[in-house]
Amino acid sequence: MAVIVWFKNDLRVRDNAALFEAIQCHEPVIPLYCLSPDQFELTSFGFRKTGVFRAKFLLESLEDLDTQLRGLGSGLLVRQGLPAEVLEEVAKEYGAAKVYTSSEIGFEEIEQMTLVSERLKVLNIEVITTENNALLNLEDYALPIHQVPDVFTDFRHLVEKNWAVRAECPMPEQLLGIEIPELALPELSDLGFDKVESDKRSVLEFRGGASEGLKRITYYFEETKLVSSYKLTRNGMVGGDYSSKFSAWLAMGCISARTIYHELIAYERKHGSNESTYWLVFELLWRAYFQLMMRKYPRQFFLKKGLNRFLMSLPAHNKKVFENWMNGETDNAFINANMRELKHTGFMSNRGRQNVASFLCHHLESDWRYGAAYFEEMLIDYDVSSNWCNWAYLAGVGNDPIKNRVFNPDKQAKQYDGEGEFRKRWL
Ligand SMILES: Cc1cc2nc3c(=O)[nH]c(=O)nc-3n(C[C@H](O)[C@H](O)[C@H](O)COP(=O)(O)OP(=O)(O)OC[C@H]3O[C@@H](n4cnc5c(N)ncnc54)[C@H](O)[C@@H]3O)c2cc1C
Repeated sequence: MAVIVWFKNDLRVRDNAALFEAIQCHEPVIPLYCLSPDQFELTSFGFRKTGVFRAKFLLESLEDLDTQLRGLGSGLLVRQGLPAEVLEEVAKEYGAAKVYTSSEIGFEEIEQMTLVSERLKVLNIEVITTENNALLNLEDYALPIHQVPDVFTDFRHLVEKNWAVRAECPMPEQLLGIEIPELALPELSDLGFDKVESDKRSVLEFRGGASEGLKRITYYFEETKLVSSYKLTRNGMVGGDYSSKFSAWLAMGCISARTIYHELIAYERKHGSNESTYWLVFELLWRAYFQLMMRKYPRQFFLKKGLNRFLMSLPAHNKKVFENWMNGETDNAFINANMRELKHTGFMSNRGRQNVASFLCHHLESDWRYGAAYFEEMLIDYDVSSNWCNWAYLAGVGNDPIKNRVFNPDKQAKQYDGEGEFRKRWL
């Protein structure tokens, strides 16, 4: 009997708990990725679920994963179709009895997993899920999900008291073989995209795959020691070095948060710790926190009123105003520069994201969910909880304990783009 490893947003061999558990069965392993039409469809907000920048990054990541798996004597089987159908087909074809995969936190992703499990149950095939993309697993926190505080600082104080990130899973040495046919990936055009040209102004030439993600860690830690000044530079907007740029590889699971954490600890042992090295963990904790919030409130972050129990009067979608924002054609140069960076590269700094989100919600008074849906299409590092929880936060319907927080883009431009370098680059 074979076992399937169903890869999703965990496109790596290193520290992959689902792959590791599958290997423990001592049965032949079939590594599978389903390219589902769902991933590229239009949402009710009128944007694609995945845009061209992330689609390109995904194809590169799949190619890299195949190379890693070939190195272990296997390979990646990529099939196009709905996961429930593809998994049934592959399970029958290879006589698989179990499917190992990462657990999900997004509402739609959980629904899809349920569909798959129900369909395979009929065939007596068990789907085993494992937490794979968090810094800490849910059971590592000393509190049940419904007791996770709704304010980040309270959560951080609780967690930091008793903090132990698990070790990485051991690296697999080889995979018991079933011959996997040569990788056959579609082109971007097969997925309905035009070829994308890289923009010279981009902060980084993002290339998908664990190899590139791990290279970036080495660059940011050991080669340049940039992490030791991260806290001083992290609000920058120009170039590759002001922040780690780990997000795209993290979101697609090419690298794990645990790997980053343990590499950072090794770095601190060698070169010393300081406020900056701590701050990177602090930011990873935000990511972990939003993952927990989405588990605690699975549907609310997709509702206009967010976590508010009572219906508030919130602005409606204004198509014309929204399109001006989206295309970087508002009356504010700082906002426009950021929106154009996103449009041309699929990336925007954290400082930029906070400002453009606040501007859409509070200055333009437009429905925040359209902004979140546009980000979902465009961002190369789109991640369900980081995106929707940050948007809700800035719209004032999420976890921000300060009510009515509004960013002043002119003040922000002065503070973070004093010389106007960023605006000149994009306008
Ligand atoms: C409106 C809005 C939408 C966002 N959407 C996403 C998204 O879809 N995917 C995504 O990964 N991040 C999102 N973020 C968070 C943050 O902007 C990006 O993680 C960060 O800009 C990525 O660059 P970096 O890897 O260089 O970050 P660094 O500053 O180097 O931070 C290191 C890591 O910490 C995590 N992190 C940092 N800030 C946050 C944060 N506010 N929330 C959650 N995690 C954080 C990320 O994993 C990041 O890679 C969003 C923020 C806002 C305000």
